[in-house]
Amino acid sequence: MAKKVCIIGGGVAGMQVASVLGTLGVPSVLVERSPLLGGRVLKLSRTFPFFNDDGFNDGQDFAAALERDLRAISLADIHLNTTLTGMTGDFPHFRVALSDGTSTDVGAVVLATGFEPFDPTGLNEYGYGIYPNVITATELEWMLNPRGPTGGELIRPNDGKKAGRLGIVFCVGSRNRRINAPFCSRICCSYSTKQASTVMERNPSAFVACFYMDVRTYDRGFEEMYSMAQDRGVKYIRGRVSMCKQLPDGSIAVRAENTLISQPFWGEFDIVSLSTGMRPCSDVEKLAQILGIGRGPDGFFMCREWFRHPHDATRDGVFIAGCATGMKPIRNCIIDGASVAARVTALLRQVSP
Ligand SMILES: Cc1cc2nc3c(=O)[nH]c(=O)nc-3n(C[C@H](O)[C@H](O)[C@H](O)COP(=O)(O)OP(=O)(O)OC[C@H]3O[C@@H](n4cnc5c(N)ncnc54)[C@H](O)[C@@H]3O)c2cc1C
Ligand code: SF4
Repeated sequence: MAKKVCIIGGGVAGMQVASVLGTLGVPSVLVERSPLLGGRVLKLSRTFPFFNDDGFNDGQDFAAALERDLRAISLADIHLNTTLTGMTGDFPHFRVALSDGTSTDVGAVVLATGFEPFDPTGLNEYGYGIYPNVITATELEWMLNPRGPTGGELIRPNDGKKAGRLGIVFCVGSRNRRINAPFCSRICCSYSTKQASTVMERNPSAFVACFYMDVRTYDRGFEEMYSMAQDRGVKYIRGRVSMCKQLPDGSIAVRAENTLISQPFWGEFDIVSLSTGMRPCSDVEKLAQILGIGRGPDGFFMCREWFRHPHDATRDGVFIAGCATGMKPIRNCIIDGASVAARVTALLRQVSP
């Protein structure tokens, strides 16, 4: 019997690792701290890019398909509402202790603990947490989801009225040295463009403006999505927003400088959405300590060899998949998951053929 692999985190990356390990005949223990598998993808209104014709426009459908594949192979022992509490031993003889009181011998550990969106409460210029109609991109995503609280309609949180004017502020909590976050979160331009385009598709008379520093829609199909958003009427205004202010009727006045034409911009919106960057999962520090592994300057788990072994953590026998190494779209998490499963299987076969 092949040695077991412990996977921490049951989002799309963790499920993919377990699934591919299963197809290779390697059993796993999949540990997920929430009551459901699927991670953040469960709440996505739809998944970009749009040219996929595989029928997974909805995040929950996609996660469900992945979970079906995983359970069909039935080599994963799934522990929900559970997390890692301890680990002893060395590669390939680890013993992991879980919060549900169980412990298991495993040959390797894979971290697939994903990310947390940045909390913009402390950035006073936007008024998040003070003005009800200033929301985060994660909140907007859920609002645009037909399964969400408004059935997919854009609704002003302060008075429940339909919203026709949406402002989207890019780079909130990223590319900002003042708060020690010089990095780009890589995915916010694309998810914001998806959201803006979705609003225009559903309501062509809406006014949607994106305030950006640069538009970084870098991956296959992403640039086409950006063009589609512009064709649908989304306005892109280059410049940093310097202030959001609530007006007496709850609308939000936005002040920015249009740096392309060196003119000030002043506009009113029903809702302003902050395209927040990403941070590592909430217990990144504790996990790094339990597993004895390092983190990069951006806080995410560090890989040992950037080019040759991008999924190896800084300790033998510990691996990283999906957004636990930094932000990436779903497709790259799936690619990551398969690569990690292949690498772990190969190493375990070397030490115990
Ligand atoms: C607003 C928004 C819109 C997006 N839209 C798209 C899109 O349209 N297309 C696209 O490709 N990507 C999109 N993304 C990105 C997408 O959400 C990620 O690519 C994906 O969620 C990453 O999957 P993951 O499994 O790596 O991490 P996650 O989805 O974060 O899953 C991690 C899992 O690990 C669990 N976990 C964390 N810590 C522990 C612990 N200590 N113990 C046990 N379990 C733990 C969590 O509960 C979670 O289930 C979007 C992101 C945002 C924020
Ligand atoms: S992906 Fe876009 S919005 Fe996100 S930090 Fe980078 S440039 Fe800013």
